[in-house]
Amino acid sequence: MTMLPPEVARVFISEDGIRRRVHALAAEIDATYAGDVPTLVSVLKGSLYFLADLTRALRCRHRLDFMAITAYGSSQAHTGSVRLLKDLDEEIAGRPVLLVDDVIDTGLTVAYLTRLLRARQPSSFRICTLLDKRVRRISENLPISFVGFEAPDVFLVGYGLDYRQTLLNLPYIGVLRQELINA
Ligand code: 5GP
Ligand code: MG
Repeated sequence: MTMLPPEVARVFISEDGIRRRVHALAAEIDATYAGDVPTLVSVLKGSLYFLADLTRALRCRHRLDFMAITAYGSSQAHTGSVRLLKDLDEEIAGRPVLLVDDVIDTGLTVAYLTRLLRARQPSSFRICTLLDKRVRRISENLPISFVGFEAPDVFLVGYGLDYRQTLLNLPYIGVLRQELINA
């Protein structure tokens, strides 16, 4: 039995469940980019753990690049206005780009990044997300090609997802206790 931190109500996806799904996703991505060299673009910092496991599970040759952003206002009720804190190091024009994200909730953040990255004319643009909270989606028509897990409307922590900057290092994905959400 896993000893849960007091803030965590229950395990949503176990460490083993994550590992198996990440390997299956890597196989899907390998099949999609056969013979190509995609640039995996990751959004710091939530995707860090997912990306580290995904990149090692991939067999296809690929590059990594990073962006850092911050949402204006609270992350619980944001408007989709995002400030870029760090841009990519490399040009992506003419290259296949795969945006790797931790969780797509309203989709507003990823919609902003999609516009930004597509304007640079990559040869293709797709999104891979570990978690998809489809029930909360506001932005339509996002090119989400790879989804690890569908998630309900709960606040998740662990495997890169933080609660007030901590709990991100849990090896599993847990559900935050409901009473903490607006506390
Ligand atoms: P969106 O723009 O899709 O509404 O917001 C996505 C971002 O909100 C994620 O990248 C993440 O930073 C944050 N987020 C959404 N749901 C959760 C969650 O359940 N737990 C944590 N820790 N962050 C979340
Ligand atoms: Mg994110």
